[in-house]
Amino acid sequence: MPLRQLFDYLNTKNDVHPQAGQRIVVPFGRRKILGVIVEVSDTSELPLEKLASVIDFPDGDQVVLSSESLRLLRWCWRYYKHAPGEVVFNALPPILRKASGVIPPPPVQYSMTPQGKERLDKPPGRIKAQIRLLEEMRDGAVTDTQLRSVSSSWRKTLSRLMEQQWVGSETQKAAQLNPVDGPVLLDEQQLAVDAIGETLGGFHCHLLDGVTGSGKTEVYLCLLEQVLKQGGQAMLLVPEIGLTPQLLSRFTKRLGFEPVVTHSGLSEGQRLKAWAMVKSGLARLVIGTRSALFLPMPDLQLIILDEEHDASFKQQDGFRYSSRDVAVKRAAGLGIPIVLGTATPSMETFNNAASNRYSWHRLRKRATGASEPRWRVLDLIQQTMSGGISSTAMKAIGQTLDKGEQALVFLNRRGYAPVILCHECGWHAACQRCDANMTWHMATRRLLCHHCDSGARVPDMCPECSADALQGAGEGTEQLEQMLAKAFPETPLLRFDRDTVRRKGEFDRLSEQVKSGDSCLLVGTQMLAKGHHFPQVTLVVIVNLDQALYSADFRALERMGQLMVQVAGRAGRDQLPGEVILQTHYPQHESLLTLLSSGYEAFASDISRERQAACLPPFSYQALLRSDAHDKGEVRDFLNQAKQCFPAGDAVVYGPFPAMMERRSGRTRWYLLVQANTRSALHPQLDQWVPQLKNLSSARKVRWSVDVDPQDY
Ligand code: ADP
Ligand code: ZN
Ligand code: ZN
Repeated sequence: MPLRQLFDYLNTKNDVHPQAGQRIVVPFGRRKILGVIVEVSDTSELPLEKLASVIDFPDGDQVVLSSESLRLLRWCWRYYKHAPGEVVFNALPPILRKASGVIPPPPVQYSMTPQGKERLDKPPGRIKAQIRLLEEMRDGAVTDTQLRSVSSSWRKTLSRLMEQQWVGSETQKAAQLNPVDGPVLLDEQQLAVDAIGETLGGFHCHLLDGVTGSGKTEVYLCLLEQVLKQGGQAMLLVPEIGLTPQLLSRFTKRLGFEPVVTHSGLSEGQRLKAWAMVKSGLARLVIGTRSALFLPMPDLQLIILDEEHDASFKQQDGFRYSSRDVAVKRAAGLGIPIVLGTATPSMETFNNAASNRYSWHRLRKRATGASEPRWRVLDLIQQTMSGGISSTAMKAIGQTLDKGEQALVFLNRRGYAPVILCHECGWHAACQRCDANMTWHMATRRLLCHHCDSGARVPDMCPECSADALQGAGEGTEQLEQMLAKAFPETPLLRFDRDTVRRKGEFDRLSEQVKSGDSCLLVGTQMLAKGHHFPQVTLVVIVNLDQALYSADFRALERMGQLMVQVAGRAGRDQLPGEVILQTHYPQHESLLTLLSSGYEAFASDISRERQAACLPPFSYQALLRSDAHDKGEVRDFLNQAKQCFPAGDAVVYGPFPAMMERRSGRTRWYLLVQANTRSALHPQLDQWVPQLKNLSSARKVRWSVDVDPQDY
């Protein structure tokens, strides 16, 4: 239930021994719902006759959450001021959030009995299906995943084979580590591996700060090998977009077994299976996105979080947590090290490393010996432009393609044009439900709002003045693709954005083509910025990032710097030297100059000083009370009332303010900002305040939520 409290129940069953971490079915009002025991006690504040009894223990004496998990989750609901029920359910696989879901039995493996072997050697007629299954076991025990690929009726065939004792089953064994040697580590890599390795067995935070291509993944692999060799479990968390088949096959090849993979795209059955595999200790290594953090791992000895600056580590709705911060908390609770890897540390991590709370390991050289790409800044005021790309950049693209190399054009905006407007009267297509323009998608002849997904047909003429004068303003990747295709008709052109890479496997198909090495042009959004190794790309053109330079969001500059470095990191990763062209209207912008001349660390130091001077995070601590409703008045009433009851103390409340995008999906969004100079000043006041909010008379009319350590406004 989305309620910020725990509930007491009485156990009247004698056949189970209630323990924290067990699932129970309990009455709640008139309904029966599933709950999880978080604490067992001899007493209650409620009188005995008021206590309802537990109806059922669906898993008997088994627990779904260990005491370690419960400790972490308790910290989460206290720190993030969120409803315990939602926090706990977030940590369970979806099937176990329903009373009907059952904990799967330990996975088994099947192997032939001696009779089975005999039968396979002298197969009688008419039992082809059985022989096919037996064939599969010729080289040893197999799992159901392997048998499933043999025939669709494998289950039936198998149970017949087992009845007749041709086949036996036993609990699966953990996958065996069977590593192959990686490359000889460079000095910087070896230092990092040694220093991090020395901290195994105790809590320690490490920042692995390595330029793209410096061999961070190689460092992870060495550490994982150490941990797995000692019989430990380990977890690698990656951003949504980072979980590619290339990454997996690299890990599988190097370690000699297949890690368990989890992400939100898996089916519920697959997620349950992964959960059971790690909980039983059978799976030693998990690679997953954000939510994998909460998997039960009894022998967890190392957590690695790759691309720690990535925004997808923060859950942006419901239970809004930072998986990076919770991962650090989990490591602390377990007394194990955690490695945060990135080429562009977030300001939070940067500050923790700069103040020696984290150990800072720098990898400054590219591991393949490739040099860092060279930057060239183009002042757009002096350029002739066509379709968003300057003539100088066009010329550079042409030269790159002539040499048989690949060029990448980056623009973080999909569609044909971000606005469609009437040249006669100035009308433009705005979303009816958001404070945003509709993006023109030419191929599908649609106008699409990228914030609420509402769509409309592109009108034939101006709906305002009926003139036949509609045209796009600005560029998106679709338009760049068209323009470049015209300019370079001979060159294959691959577009990477959410419109072209909708289907599963499409990204890999496209990137295989890029890796084949033939000259081609890539156009894409930030999908192209992360982690991919395209050795033949020697030129990167950044079409436009100017918006971030003067944004109202104080984090925009940090994000711009991160994105620029990541995109630039795509250039010249192999033997060929790389060049990056940045088009901008502000070539004299100071942060830009620092980033280009002195690198990310200097850029981050500058931002850090500015944040400190302005008392902004990470030099202060924030929480938002967000609220939205159809009616602006109700939102403001609620926030004003909430502000009135904010307790006195060192933390200060500001607002109400409209959200950066005030209207979204038809709802008006405002917030209060609470800020304090220390974490310990922020939390006691929030703890007093938040429980009162549901009782405010205006609270029923709005939706509201608390966001601790907010990332957007
Ligand atoms: P990162 O994760 O920092 O981007 P990777 O670990 O993917 O870097 O390494 C980039 C490339 O360099 C990969 O092709 C990798 O195989 C190679 N590499 C990494 N370490 C070494 C090394 N010590 N010697 C030679 N090649 C290396
Ligand atoms: Zn018009
Ligand atoms: Zn919209």
